[in-house]
Amino acid sequence: MDKREKAKAYIADAANTLNLKQWTINVSETLPPDDAYADVEASTNLWQATIRLSEDFWKEKPDSQRRIIAHELIHLHYAGVERLVEQLESSLGSIAFDIVNSIWDVESERGADALSFPLAELLPLPEFSEVKNGTKEARKTRKRKA
Ligand SMILES: [Zn+2]
Repeated sequence: MDKREKAKAYIADAANTLNLKQWTINVSETLPPDDAYADVEASTNLWQATIRLSEDFWKEKPDSQRRIIAHELIHLHYAGVERLVEQLESSLGSIAFDIVNSIWDVESERGADALSFPLAELLPLPEFSEVKNGTKEARKTRKRKA
């Protein structure tokens, strides 16, 4: 089992723990945009989502990887709101969309970030890090997560 398959199995278990049992979550081979460790994209009409993991994700320590995964899974709880925001541009126009979208982006990240700390504690430590526990310090610079 390669690291991506291990991550997919881990994410499926984590999704069960975080009450996302209805979702099927794939781990894409493509990279997330910008400087994100990871991102998640939900299907608009199916209980399916795709998580993309950056090269840097694999170099994070297990506890950091666990929190990143918790963060992405928390976003799935708000997939319906995300869809609502995306619909605003075609229905209300770009001014309304820009206002709501910019606030939604910040607030959904704040929520996912804050909740990822306590909720990650419910998950086991993953075993697909390329960094041995305690031998390398996690990167100090904090990346924006999608
Ligand atoms: Zn996020």
